[in-house]
Amino acid sequence: MPRRLVHDLAGTVAGLAAWFTILYFRGDVSRTVEAIRAGGISLTDILEITVFIGLAVIGSRLPDKIEPPVSRQHRGVFHNFTLFVILTLLILYWAYSDPSSLSRFVLSFIYGYDSHLFLDALA
Ligand SMILES: [Zn+2]
Repeated sequence: MPRRLVHDLAGTVAGLAAWFTILYFRGDVSRTVEAIRAGGISLTDILEITVFIGLAVIGSRLPDKIEPPVSRQHRGVFHNFTLFVILTLLILYWAYSDPSSLSRFVLSFIYGYDSHLFLDALA
């Protein structure tokens, strides 16, 4: 499978994970699960999921846009796993404190970015 497609798929999963994280922080998981079961998921939820996945896919592509994979030594500060784990924890705290703010979109982006670093670490 082409590398970019793998990163896009991981970004999609990361976007869904970010959405569930925000639902959890809002205390909205059971309402949303009930709505999905009843086939009554709202347009707002669908739009939000779409934005979350879109931002996470952009995040999953960005590290190689900044530091193109021209050799095995291409990975610099923008591929630094530790740095982004710390950044993710800070953003998680921000999202936990205020899950309806801009933090939710930043969280989905950083989850996508992390998915790229995670896949690169496996390669
Ligand atoms: Zn990479």
